[in-house]
Amino acid sequence: MDPHQLRNLYGPDVLRARLEREGVERTTLSFYRYVRLAEVEVLRHVLYQEWEKLGVLGRIYISQEGINAQVSLPTADLAAFRANLDDREAFRDVPWKIAVEDDGKSFLKLTIKVRKKIVADGLADDAFDVTNVGTHLDAATFNRKMEEGALVIDMRNNYECLIGHFEGAYLPKADTFRGAIEEVVGMLIARVQGCEGARATDVNLQPSHPPTLALSEPEILLYCTGGIRCEKASAYLKHHGYNKVNQLHGGIIDYARQLKAEGLKSKYLGQNFVFDERLAERITDDVVSTCMQCDAPCDRIGNCHEATCNMLLVQCEACAQKYADCCSPSCREIHQLPMETQRAWRKGRSTRSTRTKAINDPEGLRRRIREEEELLALNGTLHPELSKFTSKIIPSS
Ligand SMILES: [Zn+2]
Ligand SMILES: [Zn+2]
Repeated sequence: MDPHQLRNLYGPDVLRARLEREGVERTTLSFYRYVRLAEVEVLRHVLYQEWEKLGVLGRIYISQEGINAQVSLPTADLAAFRANLDDREAFRDVPWKIAVEDDGKSFLKLTIKVRKKIVADGLADDAFDVTNVGTHLDAATFNRKMEEGALVIDMRNNYECLIGHFEGAYLPKADTFRGAIEEVVGMLIARVQGCEGARATDVNLQPSHPPTLALSEPEILLYCTGGIRCEKASAYLKHHGYNKVNQLHGGIIDYARQLKAEGLKSKYLGQNFVFDERLAERITDDVVSTCMQCDAPCDRIGNCHEATCNMLLVQCEACAQKYADCCSPSCREIHQLPMETQRAWRKGRSTRSTRTKAINDPEGLRRRIREEEELLALNGTLHPELSKFTSKIIPSS
């Protein structure tokens, strides 16, 4: 087959309708492995052909350093997919993690991308030994070490921690993995030296020669969504001289599965942010966040519906109604215009197609909303520039 045909050619509406029609039970699962892969381009096309036949949808990254996959497939084909993976030396016995909360609509299409790295972490791998990772812990051991007072660190970005996290965990403020890992090293140093807000890059820290930590070095517990980021994070921390580094094996996704299977008590509270259509899967009924617009307890997460904004926010039902699923009155005003006017207004403005940014200053957002509401009451619009589109497109009666 022509490799150019080995990709999805349909729009999201067609795909969603097709998935609705399909009517078979699907399972969402994820797996990754750091493993040397040769002829990655060729492998990509072969995998696409084989997995498309099995009804696999999802997002897969492959690179010379391995594979990172989040997929959904007909539950009836799970065994066939397992056999397909096991047929290849590189993927044999790769552990997969099945999502607990699943309506089968987590992915609309199959994409397999060849990347330089399977996780875009922004770290220079040759600067440290990526294979010198921390100790992998199962859910029960992770819980026990938490009870013994270990320091729990969330290795996800700020917006992923919003709606759920382990009790008492350190939650990074950074919105990239690299930012988070540097912030964490800074935090660890600050714990010892008493200097708040330091970053790894600010402090002259010699690897394998940490500042008089030996006695006070905390036992560290790292966790992330599926475990993959902790592979790099733990190696990075060990490179910086920390020895008691542990990581949650299989991440929050597998922690949730182990809780169910073994009847353990969850020390993770709230929802787990996931990178598919679902946005989140619920682990416990705890609500750890508040609505960014009215500050009421809430962990409903979504994107601002104004396409040029698309910011992630925590928004309660009442505020979603009030602001028409938008982050602010100014976004709402655009979103509620006739479609042609919206298009005209959007021309030349870039749209944010991915949900990689979240509102990180809810206080500031609430202030902005108050100011915008006042202005709106005064002027009847927050977008005076709209007059030139509306007069052209909607003829005045
Ligand atoms: Zn609200
Ligand atoms: Zn917005």
